[in-house]
Amino acid sequence: MIDDHALVLFSGGQDSATCLAWALDRYSHVETVGFVYGQRHVVELACREPVRAGLASIRGWGARLGADHIVDLGQTLAGIGETALTAEAEIAITDEGLPSTFVPGRNLLFFTYAAAIAWRRGLRRIIGGMCETDYSGYPDCRDDTIKAMQLALNLGLARRSVLETPLMWRDKAATWALTERLGGTALVSLIVEHTHSCYLGDRTHRHDWGYGCGACPACELRRAGWERWRAQASHEDRPAAD
Ligand code: ZN
Repeated sequence: MIDDHALVLFSGGQDSATCLAWALDRYSHVETVGFVYGQRHVVELACREPVRAGLASIRGWGARLGADHIVDLGQTLAGIGETALTAEAEIAITDEGLPSTFVPGRNLLFFTYAAAIAWRRGLRRIIGGMCETDYSGYPDCRDDTIKAMQLALNLGLARRSVLETPLMWRDKAATWALTERLGGTALVSLIVEHTHSCYLGDRTHRHDWGYGCGACPACELRRAGWERWRAQASHEDRPAAD
């Protein structure tokens, strides 16, 4: 295990792209892993390559960016249960108070597969974009879940891996601010243009904050964070990012 070698769970969304930039900024070798799990909209996966290519051209990060791994889970998750991300179900809050976009076990599975790849590749750090601050209420994004996962994986694999979640205590405005700090306007533009958040897979409507339907919970979070960040930025009298 090499201490400053890392594996980033990279979906092609805003949060995981920011985490990938965060890892490239601090570690000497960074690989990525993406999962195919029967998600309704593969548009997010299609964003992965352009984002990787874009990151490689910022601040010499290309020399640090390593292999990309794709794990195809087929219909495993979709077959277990219908959620609004894997079936044509409505996005709503369920009786248990969870959004219908929750895919049970998803992040737990992702970390398990990622840890197996990291084990093979000798990568000590495993990085994910989970966030407990400004999130959709997914229980597998909680800090306690990730800490428990780290313990279970380290025991089960007899390694001392570190699961890192740089966005855990950042709201979406702080995530945009981190983006600018890591890679300046080039990185902000890359995230706006090429990452995807919208649950409906909308790539036709372009807003200041990127593409999306503008109405689903993921678009709502992304837009609200962008607007708070821009308001804070103008308050601090900094030069505009655009
Ligand atoms: Zn949307």
